[in-house]
Amino acid sequence: MVEPYWDWFDQMLAADSRALGGEPCRICQQPISPTAHPKQRDRHVCSPRCNDSLKRRFKRRIERGEIPGYQPHAGTLAIMSERASRAPQIFRTVREAEFPYEHSWFPIVGDVIERHGVTSHYVPLDQIPWLPDHLAWVLADTKLPAARVLGVLCPDARMWTVHFIETTGETIRLAMAEVWAYDTPTGQRTYGSEPLTGVDLYQGIEMIKDVDDAGQEYQWDATVFSPARPEKLWTPARMDLSQKRSRTTRAKNAYQARKRALGIHAAAADEVDPQDIYDRDDWICQLCQHPVERRYLWPHPMSITLDHVLPVTRGGSHSTTNLQTAHWICNLRKGNAP
Ligand SMILES: [Zn+2]
Ligand SMILES: [Zn+2]
Repeated sequence: MVEPYWDWFDQMLAADSRALGGEPCRICQQPISPTAHPKQRDRHVCSPRCNDSLKRRFKRRIERGEIPGYQPHAGTLAIMSERASRAPQIFRTVREAEFPYEHSWFPIVGDVIERHGVTSHYVPLDQIPWLPDHLAWVLADTKLPAARVLGVLCPDARMWTVHFIETTGETIRLAMAEVWAYDTPTGQRTYGSEPLTGVDLYQGIEMIKDVDDAGQEYQWDATVFSPARPEKLWTPARMDLSQKRSRTTRAKNAYQARKRALGIHAAAADEVDPQDIYDRDDWICQLCQHPVERRYLWPHPMSITLDHVLPVTRGGSHSTTNLQTAHWICNLRKGNAP
């Protein structure tokens, strides 16, 4: 649904196909190693260094107007702007919670993210007290309106970092600059790009993969300052979704493998999560009408299995209406009989 900047970026930089090894590097012509990072092989570059050159060339071509820059789809923009229209919020660390980090789609101006007692404040660019010359120059050069640039201030570290973001909230470039504020003995404030000594905080991107109420996945990326290293995390809902997907795929693969054994290739099969069938049947074996206990795991004879009502061998389909809950032993006894 939301196609992020980085997917577009990867697509734009990819060569026709992944290099298998031996192909010439697009930058230096040296052969690409078959064991090079997949991203390098996708882009046909031989090393991180040539990858950097490729990225620089690409960005220069956009700046010169030779190729169009990132343009999110209208649909994406609509969704993003709807999500960006929420009121600013405080996102806290809740240690007792099942998932400890409050989050949303993405941070917007006015948000405060508290991580382990340290706060990061999302402010518009004009509230950033001071920018180094080179950054002011870069910002002017991008011709981005100030509303598309966000700063993240950390009062505890007297530090900030600047983002370029879409009006809609999507981060298109991160950590453009880090600036520290110093208080002189005379009480004046000065600024510099050297870290403050004695302030022991991490600044980084927190990534949280989650699922919305409609079952759609999304990822919250936020620059945060924290006493703990910012992490890449999955919420329990996102993990459930991933488990659901792998259960669904395993069941489908097993069905298709049986069809293949019968000489039928790429048999049509619905996406069915066995768990949904078990829940629908209240964990009652539909063959013997006795409950199935969750503690028995396959290959225990009393463990739960998915039974095709009309057997696969007789053309039974892999669909909710043709699937039911059964003890493994009952399933075996039934065999190929309908
Ligand atoms: Zn190279
Ligand atoms: Zn049974």
